[in-house]
Amino acid sequence: MNIMFDEQQAMMMALNISGNHVMCLDLKDNRVYDLHGKAMFGNNVGIDICYTYIHPDDRERFRTFVERLSDGTDLEADCHYRWDYNYTGQGEPDWHDMYGRAIAEYEDGKPVNIIATLTDETEVKQKEREVEHLSERYRSIFENSIIGMSFYSPEGWLIDANQIMRQICHFDSDTSDEFFSKMNLFDVMPFNEVLDRENPEDYWACSLSIVPERNMRVYLEISVHPIYDEKGKLMYISVTANDVTEERNMYLNVMENDARMKKMNEAIKNYEAELRYMLQASKMQTWRISLERDTLEFYDGLNTVMRSFSLEQLQKIFVDQEHPFVKALSDPAETLKKPLVYVGQMYPVVTQSSTENQWVQINCIPEFDKEGNLLGAFGVWRNVNDLMCKQDQLRKETKRARESGQLKTLFLANMTHEIRTPINSIVGFTEVLSALEGEDKKEVIQIIKNNCDMLLRLINDILTVSSLESGQMDIRPVEVDFAKSFNELFESLRSRVQEPGVEFIKDNPYATLPIKVDVDRVSQVITNFLTNAVKYTHQGHIKLGYHTETRTIDGKQLEGLYVYCEDTGDGIAPESQPRIFDRFYKVNDFVQGTGLGLSICKAFTDACHGDIGVVSEGKGKGSVFWMWIPL
Ligand code: ADP
Repeated sequence: MNIMFDEQQAMMMALNISGNHVMCLDLKDNRVYDLHGKAMFGNNVGIDICYTYIHPDDRERFRTFVERLSDGTDLEADCHYRWDYNYTGQGEPDWHDMYGRAIAEYEDGKPVNIIATLTDETEVKQKEREVEHLSERYRSIFENSIIGMSFYSPEGWLIDANQIMRQICHFDSDTSDEFFSKMNLFDVMPFNEVLDRENPEDYWACSLSIVPERNMRVYLEISVHPIYDEKGKLMYISVTANDVTEERNMYLNVMENDARMKKMNEAIKNYEAELRYMLQASKMQTWRISLERDTLEFYDGLNTVMRSFSLEQLQKIFVDQEHPFVKALSDPAETLKKPLVYVGQMYPVVTQSSTENQWVQINCIPEFDKEGNLLGAFGVWRNVNDLMCKQDQLRKETKRARESGQLKTLFLANMTHEIRTPINSIVGFTEVLSALEGEDKKEVIQIIKNNCDMLLRLINDILTVSSLESGQMDIRPVEVDFAKSFNELFESLRSRVQEPGVEFIKDNPYATLPIKVDVDRVSQVITNFLTNAVKYTHQGHIKLGYHTETRTIDGKQLEGLYVYCEDTGDGIAPESQPRIFDRFYKVNDFVQGTGLGLSICKAFTDACHGDIGVVSEGKGKGSVFWMWIPL
């Protein structure tokens, strides 16, 4: 079935689709009405009222447009005006942009109607304005950007460059455009080497740019960015440049400072290490008192705090509270004003490894601020324990040497007597020997023998002492049955105990005792003990004995041999007992003897790491001499 449209209807449909309005301005009746669409608010509006709805800026133009068509000046004309759609007359006007073309309709050679076809282009115009506004904003960003920006055509010709770009490139305003316009992007360094003319890609670089003829020497951060449209066609090439010379200089400065700081830190570290080593090697440590912080700090090295005290504790670390230095520390702000040196004992508060008090030497230097106010003091302290011990030892040794010197003089004086007495009796009795017979002769021979023994012992002692003085004491342990050796020694010594009122007693608890010991030396010690006992015992008994005995030495259980000689003789006064084992020491100078025997016994005991001693309750109470040596 064919659908037929009449022409009029078809025209109406076409107008509807296009959204056009058609208006008629009836020049005869002075009124305006809609021929098509709804541009007007009524269909019988006078032209004068119509004017009031036109935007004031367009009104004059609109009037001229109407006049020229009415008086026949124009046969047709473009029309464009803004129309207020807010017909109520209240509130804000609602401007619509109406565009179109008008034609004058003639009757009898005179214009009677103006027919205008109009399109509402408000939205289009609005968009145009927005685009304009946006591009203005972009322009402002472009011009006011703090980095240099420029746009090039796809062929590499400059389209635009902002102010900063011109500054960066040192182009003054007169010549810059000319210069820029002559330079093709693809021909200048460094783009001629990195950009592909046909297909330029993103590029970024930061380098020194030098153009001598433009007096340009700057570090530039440059980036190139091609801009394509949605179809992938190259539209522009944007080039941005940022002058980073200052940043770079700043960076270099920072780097330089860093390097300098690093060097300095290393030097300080080395210096501190050296100082620490020096302090350690000389057993010194540093300290500092701060009055402001109320602290006394002891350091390891220069500033690693080992121990810290408040100033209230300052005096308490010293042992001798009566020392003027320690007393003065009750007022540190006054005392520390001048340099001080103190030597004395300190509690073991700094190096807590030792629990004993330490002798220290403290050097004290005051510390002032620029105005001369006392800040505190600093200095070194040194553990002088060893030094003090050595000094003490030296003092004792000097004393001993002095005494020993005196004793030696005494000994030499005695010696004449000690040697002459036996020799005289030997010589004397030998002379009468040939004239004697029987028992008398035997007795004299015995006397000569005793004196010879005495001389021999004397000479032996002197020889032993002299070998001790040159630092020798040979210990020669041998495997022996000590029980047997002891019995033999006891028997050989029996003849020496001749006093009728003195009983000679043996205390041998073992039938046999195989041990390894320097039996000659032990016999010498026992003989010495006995010789002395015989000298000083005239009534009672002399008892020789021994047994094995375990002692704890330095936490170790040690098996040893204990020998002793007990007598009921003169005994030894308590005040003399400590010196009895000293060389040349005799309690009574008028009694026969050199004062060497016991000192030799002690030297042997010391060499064996043993112990020797005497127990006597005093004068006339007898004594027990004993020795213990480890086996
Ligand atoms: P000396 O050759 O003079 O006896 P010693 O060193 O053997 O030398 O003895 C030192 C001193 O110890 C003796 O001079 C004596 O005064 C005293 N002494 C030693 N043993 C005894 C003892 N058993 N009883 C009393 N005094 C003794």
